[in-house]
Amino acid sequence: MHLYGLQKMTLLDFPGHVACTVFLNACDCRCPFCHNFELIDGTAPALMSEEEFFGFLEKRHGLLDGVAITGGEPCLHADLPAFMEKIRACGFAVKLDTNGFHPEMLSRILEENLADYIAMDIKNSPEKYALTCGLDRVDMKPIEESVSLLLGGNVEYEFRTTVVREMHDESDFKKIGKWICGAKRYFLQKFTDRDTVPFGNLSAPTRGELEKYAFLVSNYVNFVALRGVD
Ligand code: SF4
Repeated sequence: MHLYGLQKMTLLDFPGHVACTVFLNACDCRCPFCHNFELIDGTAPALMSEEEFFGFLEKRHGLLDGVAITGGEPCLHADLPAFMEKIRACGFAVKLDTNGFHPEMLSRILEENLADYIAMDIKNSPEKYALTCGLDRVDMKPIEESVSLLLGGNVEYEFRTTVVREMHDESDFKKIGKWICGAKRYFLQKFTDRDTVPFGNLSAPTRGELEKYAFLVSNYVNFVALRGVD
């Protein structure tokens, strides 16, 4: 496993933990609002080896208690379970971010109890999934399977949507709510523009719009909250 980015400390990425965040490369989506687009085609140079990372981690005992693994799409990496196991063996909790395209990997991680927390993207209502992922088409079956795995599993999890004004409207959140009905947690994350976002024609919804969307989902989900809103 090679790492393509490392945030040495975060209080935001892993709920309840002081963590570092590691970025893995490659992704099977091309979301136009992606903050890490330089990682996703797999051409960016690696930042550090696994050995170097564990050298860093060993020195963080007492300062950090968790590692958040993000990307890219971490589940594309066959050695992800071994990497997670190794982090756990060092005494750190593990959080995994995923786009939900790989239920076979997610299932293995759940069965082997390798994660303390999983955050899965719900990109949009099923009809708009391909558009929101920047793809021509998307097979929804694996994504639906990943949702079911989290809904029926024992691991702590959240679903979350990055909300972009040009991509989401009220009807999407009614559909998302019905789809993930009974979920423990759902977050609406306000899109923020950055230099690394590939498309310059996207904008953020207002706080009022986000609150309206949150209310629609709260008819179906136990806990709904906003992120990235002042
Ligand atoms: S799934 Fe995540 S990493 Fe992949 S393109 Fe979309 S936002 Fe970027």
